[in-house]
Amino acid sequence: MLARDNWFNEALEPMKFLEMHPQSIYLTLSLLSLLTGGVLGLMHRGLAPDVQPAAVLWRIGTLMLALAGVFFAFRGEVPLVPSVMVGNTLAMMGTVLYAHGLRRFFGLSMPVWPYVLVAVGLIALLVFVAWYPMYRARVIFASGIMATHMIAAAIWVFQRRNLELEVSGRMMTGVLLACGVIMALRAVTAPFTDVPSPLAPGWINVLGGLAGAVFPVVGTTAFLMMASERSRIRLQRAAVTDELTGLPNRRALTFAAQQGLAEIRGGGQMGLILFDIDRFKSINDTYGHEMGDRALAHIADLLRAGVSPPAVAGRFGGEEFLCVVPGAGLDQAAALAESLRRRLDSSPLVLPGRELSITASFGVSTVRPEDISIDRALARADEALYRAKAGGRNRVEIDC
Ligand code: GH3
Ligand code: MG
Ligand code: MG
Repeated sequence: MLARDNWFNEALEPMKFLEMHPQSIYLTLSLLSLLTGGVLGLMHRGLAPDVQPAAVLWRIGTLMLALAGVFFAFRGEVPLVPSVMVGNTLAMMGTVLYAHGLRRFFGLSMPVWPYVLVAVGLIALLVFVAWYPMYRARVIFASGIMATHMIAAAIWVFQRRNLELEVSGRMMTGVLLACGVIMALRAVTAPFTDVPSPLAPGWINVLGGLAGAVFPVVGTTAFLMMASERSRIRLQRAAVTDELTGLPNRRALTFAAQQGLAEIRGGGQMGLILFDIDRFKSINDTYGHEMGDRALAHIADLLRAGVSPPAVAGRFGGEEFLCVVPGAGLDQAAALAESLRRRLDSSPLVLPGRELSITASFGVSTVRPEDISIDRALARADEALYRAKAGGRNRVEIDC
């Protein structure tokens, strides 16, 4: 019998946290918020410049929640009206600034309604503390508004997460949603529970306070993860992208060609189109280097429009471009090269008051099963390109 009682008590042990005193929770909330806000402050300079404004909003939000915790913890020792008004203003401003920080993180403008909700909440709180003191009504407004901010922020992050942030976006959505739901529960259950103040013991106060204490820590961790995941993705992208044109760079093209080489050994085929702008030096010399850069960007636009997957076109270096065409034999690759040559020939770079005609010379080859590396096939495309230059430029030559 005794053993059974012990087992029963042990099973209930984890629920002991519901007996915690709300005052200690609010003070813990303040301390944790201050600490995480401080950590974020220390890391500020290490964050990407475009994340920094979002981090400032996030940090102010955290500081406001920390101060709100102090006001809730000392509810009995400060006159009721200022304590309610200041504490809840800080808490609601905290959640709205979190939402604002996340919008800023994604480069989105902040709608006005979450701030309007804070103003509406403050009027309601004033009414229900100064004229018709009613704790339940105050909980409905304050917790309901905080829940709305958090759930809206969770939806905003969820909508954007697929664009760049897989793991951290999910974590942020999860923590916002969990805390938002707890706040909503607090608002919805207020009319039915007999809890007279935020300091009264009871599971809803404990749960609400714990959500407030956990959020700054887990939320700030998720925020920092979002910032680092964004930086990592940008670095990965930059490593395979040409900065001037936004096209795949030499590394990406070589990788695509090497992958194709493996397939050719299994019986497939792959074409390579190498082309070089004609008399590009004279464009630079006549119109300036900047105009030369614009000509490169113009060609990049034509390539994006004229080459579709599985073919990959990119800037191989300087004023040389390469197009890797998996599945294409010599004829198909030559046809694509000819269509690109014509497209370029008939699309001058339009400048204010004049048009700048740009042409290129093309060399086409295919990768052969006996090629040890992609360099062999590239060398043959280069030879054909040389012949196109020697033969008068603005033409396509194929490897023979
Ligand atoms: P050809 O028809 O024989 O190819 O003549 P070309 O003038 O195009 O060839 P050349 O190799 O003499 O000159 C290539 C020029 O491309 C020289 C270099 O300054 C310019 N260039 C290379 N990269 C860039 C770049 O990123 N921007 C600009 N504006 N110019 C570049
Ligand atoms: Mg060249
Ligand atoms: Mg050239």
